[in-house]
Amino acid sequence: MTTNIDTEQLYKDNVLGNYGLPPVTFVRGRGLRLWDDAGKEYLDFCAGIAVASLGHCHPKLVTAIQEQAAELLCVSNLYRNENQAKLAAKLNEKAGGGGKVFFCNSGAEANEALIKLARLHGRKLSGQEGKRFKIVCAENAFHGRTFGGMSATPKAKIQEGFAPLVDGFEFAALNDLASFEAAIDDQTAAVFIETIQGEGGIFPATTEFLQGLRALCDEKGVLLMIDEVQCGAGRTGSFFAFEKAGIYPDVIGMAKGLGGGVPIGAVWIRDEYAELFGPGSHGTTFGGTPLICAAALAVLDTIEEEKLMENVQRNGAYVLQKLQDLQSEFPDYILEIRGSGYMIGIQIADSSFEMVTLLRENALIVPPAGPDVVRFLPPLTATQADFDEALDIFKTAIKARVALRQENATA
Ligand SMILES: *Cc1c(COP(=O)(O)O)cnc(C)c1O
Repeated sequence: MTTNIDTEQLYKDNVLGNYGLPPVTFVRGRGLRLWDDAGKEYLDFCAGIAVASLGHCHPKLVTAIQEQAAELLCVSNLYRNENQAKLAAKLNEKAGGGGKVFFCNSGAEANEALIKLARLHGRKLSGQEGKRFKIVCAENAFHGRTFGGMSATPKAKIQEGFAPLVDGFEFAALNDLASFEAAIDDQTAAVFIETIQGEGGIFPATTEFLQGLRALCDEKGVLLMIDEVQCGAGRTGSFFAFEKAGIYPDVIGMAKGLGGGVPIGAVWIRDEYAELFGPGSHGTTFGGTPLICAAALAVLDTIEEEKLMENVQRNGAYVLQKLQDLQSEFPDYILEIRGSGYMIGIQIADSSFEMVTLLRENALIVPPAGPDVVRFLPPLTATQADFDEALDIFKTAIKARVALRQENATA
């Protein structure tokens, strides 16, 4: 399908230039395939940044959206709707039960809600407003672009120009329990981490660390809040990535893959803290509409029906082995392989942006994660054959980059 709209010019003239965009416009998607406006086909290992968990236009998701759109789109949160009730029950079950769910529209909004919850928790503990309000986050974290999320994201590139930030965020080293322990004091209300750091370059929290952190938070009376916006919704082969550590946090932030492509955010809060948000204390117009919840319910049903988490476990192990083989072939180029399931980071001795560009030119779409990490975030439906195809393109690109460097070195 080609179009004769001059998208590039319309963007230049009308769309805010806050994204550094490559010269490509997608017009159609099916499964793991994308097509641009010139009719070129691509293999999509970005999936809308871990959003299109069922691939593009999965029939069950399309039907759920179409049917719900023809029935009821939204009624606000001044009234109940059935789909929100059903989705909340499903997510509560996934989170181990004994909690409540709040719906919003994005990862940053989910994190905003849990940052506000930490303040309420601190007020209750200290019996005073503004006394116990600090949140200990991890160095290298990413929690979104709102003021709260940005303040929890210790990166100059993200924070620069927006001072003053929100008060009370402290940072400790991921996987270093002593560092978290040292950062917690009598003003701390919560600890807030990603199970696997995504935008920071795919750095997983270890099982030991997660278990230690759970015990530490219990001991200190602070909330353990986990951002599963990118690593959750089945991406690592379990519904939540932290399940592998056999722990449950007090608060979970969700978004991205949960809606399969529609905007959704959700926060699960353990019952004893859920009551901190009384009527009127927080809210949003669009969160949990019948339409969006119908989409998320279709995503959850399809993950179960098509055994997608098993698919991720099986092929995740396969691609990891293949990448390790590739690393032995190019040990000076592939420096490290990190991650779990379908959330993989490949650290290269090269610019990730140059590599991502080259891969796109060769019809493979992947996102970078920082200056030297290439990410694989395919839909959960990706097969072994899809990985073989992606790895072939990746290997060809590596060879080209290595050859280019040798040329430059001898020139
Ligand atoms: C993407 C992301 C966010 C922000 O989500 P948005 O929907 O872009 O606001 C927050 N946390 C993590 C871990 C993310 O990957």
